Amino acid sequence: MASVFSSSNGFPERMPRVAGMLGALISESQFDFWAREFGSITAWRRVFARVQSLHMEGAETLSIGLRPNRNFQSAVAGQHVNVSVEIGGRLCTRSYSLSRPAEGGCVSISVRREPGGLVSNHIHDHLQVGDVLELSQPYGGLSEGLAEARAQVFLAAGSGITAIYNLIAEQARRGEALRGELLYWEKQVDRFCFTEELDALCQAHPQFSVKRFCNADASSSLYSTGRLSTELAAQLCERYPNGSVFACGGSAFVGAARELFSGVVGGFYAEAFSPPQRLGGDVAEERFFEVSLTRSGQTITVSSQQSLLDALEDAGHRPPHGCRMGICNSCSCGQRSGESQNQLNGEQLRGAGSVRLCVSRANSNIELDI
Ligand SMILES: Cc1cc2nc3c(=O)[nH]c(=O)nc-3n(C[C@H](O)[C@H](O)[C@H](O)COP(=O)(O)OP(=O)(O)OC[C@H]3O[C@@H](n4cnc5c(N)ncnc54)[C@H](O)[C@@H]3O)c2cc1C
Repeated sequence: MASVFSSSNGFPERMPRVAGMLGALISESQFDFWAREFGSITAWRRVFARVQSLHMEGAETLSIGLRPNRNFQSAVAGQHVNVSVEIGGRLCTRSYSLSRPAEGGCVSISVRREPGGLVSNHIHDHLQVGDVLELSQPYGGLSEGLAEARAQVFLAAGSGITAIYNLIAEQARRGEALRGELLYWEKQVDRFCFTEELDALCQAHPQFSVKRFCNADASSSLYSTGRLSTELAAQLCERYPNGSVFACGGSAFVGAARELFSGVVGGFYAEAFSPPQRLGGDVAEERFFEVSLTRSGQTITVSSQQSLLDALEDAGHRPPHGCRMGICNSCSCGQRSGESQNQLNGEQLRGAGSVRLCVSRANSNIELDI
């Protein structure tokens, strides 16, 4: 079953704001449980969303229209949500970008099938209209650069097009004139997404163009070949000397874009969909430390070669988490004492502070607020 729960059967979808009054009679988890039993997406604080529509976007990407409950805060283009689905009795969470401008209280995500991937394949194979998914609040700040009145260069690779398309479409929806271009790479021709929509935007906005790159099809005049290179970057910088560059895709693509454009153009905004290279990798010599969990009163032993999140899960704990890449901040929790190290940026946290469990490891015995 793809959904956390599915299909409405009578419990009012939009409950009046009675949660506060009910507080004396029923606990939050009981309220959510009974709403769920009645097939409603109403919840005390959690965000549930009903699947309104499903359609394929190219050969590998499923666009999902979602109507979240009223706990969902308003989202802006370029943001992402963590989506949780229950697979084999375990709640699995992944991040997905909002892929179309929000409309009538509905948001969209577009999920690319990842070979061997757990959640993306589960969603493609099992999700149905009427099912319900759990969402996080939207996060991420890719849209910051839209406020600047500069020409815009959008760089998208693979599923990175989801966030980029939304940034472009949202500006058009607001009636703003698009000025700049989108360069969009896919590995196979049949994977291109939002083709009709992007072509229509080019028609409506003469100062905006789309260039599609597909190295697997060198014969078609529809597609360019080549990678994001120094030459290509130089051409773009010459065309848009003070432009804003937005890049989204895997970490290698975003890393290359950052190297070519950061500090060179008017503004550079990027989001990577795969984990950035970790500093130093695993520590050479494995050591073991004790992690005291102050709320549960338990103590677990962790290896210096494991992330704190992995170690906690191995010990049977289920701390909240999202992207598992140090991006979404869902797993941040308080560290009271000891020393941990963020493996992405090498920063060491000594004593009290906030620790991202998914990308941090213990450097000593530590105390966590769990
Ligand atoms: C901010 C952000 C936004 C994102 N937005 C989107 C979006 O809009 N659309 C989109 O499609 N994706 C997006 N992603 C990526 C998405 O979150 C997932 O990572 C993606 O869907 C794959 O999840 P999965 O569960 O299918 O794959 P996973 O099960 O997590 O597997 C990922 C890869 O690892 C391999 N793998 C898994 N287990 C093993 C193992 N034991 N040994 C070796 N290899 C293994 C799999 O074969 C697969 O290739 C985004 C990510 C981030 C961080």
